[in-house]
Amino acid sequence: MPRLDTREKLAILADAAKYDASCASSGTKKRDSAGGKGIGSTEGMGICHAYAPDGRCISLLKILLTNSCIFDCHYCINRKSSNVRRARFTAEEVVQLTLSFYRRNYIEGLFLSSGIIRSPNYTMEQIVEVARSLREDHDFRGYIHLKTIPDADPELVHKAGLYADRVSINVELPTEQGLKRLAPEKDGARIEGAMKGMKAAIDQGADEKKRFRSAPGFAPAGQSTQMIVGADGASDGDIIKRASTLYDRFALRRVYYSAFSPIPDASAVLPLRRPPLMREHRLYQSDWLMRFYGFKPGEVVAAADDTGMLPLDIDPKLAWALKFRERFPVDVNRAPREMLLRVPGLGVKAVDRIIASRRWRRLRLGDIARLTVSVAKLRPFIVAADWRPTALIDRVDLQQRLKPATEQLELFAA
Ligand code: SF4
Repeated sequence: MPRLDTREKLAILADAAKYDASCASSGTKKRDSAGGKGIGSTEGMGICHAYAPDGRCISLLKILLTNSCIFDCHYCINRKSSNVRRARFTAEEVVQLTLSFYRRNYIEGLFLSSGIIRSPNYTMEQIVEVARSLREDHDFRGYIHLKTIPDADPELVHKAGLYADRVSINVELPTEQGLKRLAPEKDGARIEGAMKGMKAAIDQGADEKKRFRSAPGFAPAGQSTQMIVGADGASDGDIIKRASTLYDRFALRRVYYSAFSPIPDASAVLPLRRPPLMREHRLYQSDWLMRFYGFKPGEVVAAADDTGMLPLDIDPKLAWALKFRERFPVDVNRAPREMLLRVPGLGVKAVDRIIASRRWRRLRLGDIARLTVSVAKLRPFIVAADWRPTALIDRVDLQQRLKPATEQLELFAA
């Protein structure tokens, strides 16, 4: 490996980390201030945003320890057979970089992942050493998110949880067949075994903390995982069912969905085109329906078409409501909370405010309109004191009428 200075390594290893969605905010335009125009950049190296356990948005230094890897996962730009420029930080370099970024107020924490060098155990030792040194040698109190390696010794993985706020283990692909085909060196059972061990340790840590205030914390922000969408033939239905199983079995805080993006020098077994970004967005919306709106996974899957794919032009809650119109309209003055949560256009906060307000008076359509962005979207699905949709819910063109207007793109936009 050629000798590189810290800046060059940072450019390579921050860029290589961008494929990990576990703390990413995506979808922004590329802008920079090169050439003296303006100030700021959306493409700077290595800083991304994540939500802390208390809901604050924080900036993290997001890097890999190295982008060299002895594995050859087809979908990964860092795989052994990839022709990318390689770099490697020492544990001490990552520690110093984190501290100096922190002191300059650039970041509030670190997100560290790595390709696998020498062996899973050696790599995990290096990752843990970064967190250990930050916490023990430098009394670093910022946020740390560590990617752990399922094939590493469980003792080492456990150590990661002692120093990190959050740990994550990527399941990578939604199905076992997909994993076998695209990441043949990875083992679904081992990944799940590591997640199970992590859940037990997190539960035990939380329990000990309740009993003894001085007990050391263990990954207080829990564990998360990431699934790549569109690299294999898994449908949205497969992904939703898999995510739900992972939430149930391993009490995950989050499942992140990352639309597969064709990488330079891609393997021939991968699709040539990335799935629409909207697919990733619809999966996040489905995830919210299960976590906050009381939808069962089977119900979200029922909103999909015969091939198991969710519609891209409307959100999954609206798709479900249009398919199960016999459940509507819902009377906002009488319906239980769980049914109000099913009304397209009504969010959790709006539902709670409806329930609080209707104790005092009967709500009219205008009252509901003040709680939502678009009353047009929910009119066909509700009954209010002064509103009943009559035949609106049965219209065959209802989907067309409720679909968000498509945006005309500018022909010569930059
Ligand atoms: S083990 Fe991780 S870094 Fe290595 S090729 Fe697979 S996905 Fe990429």
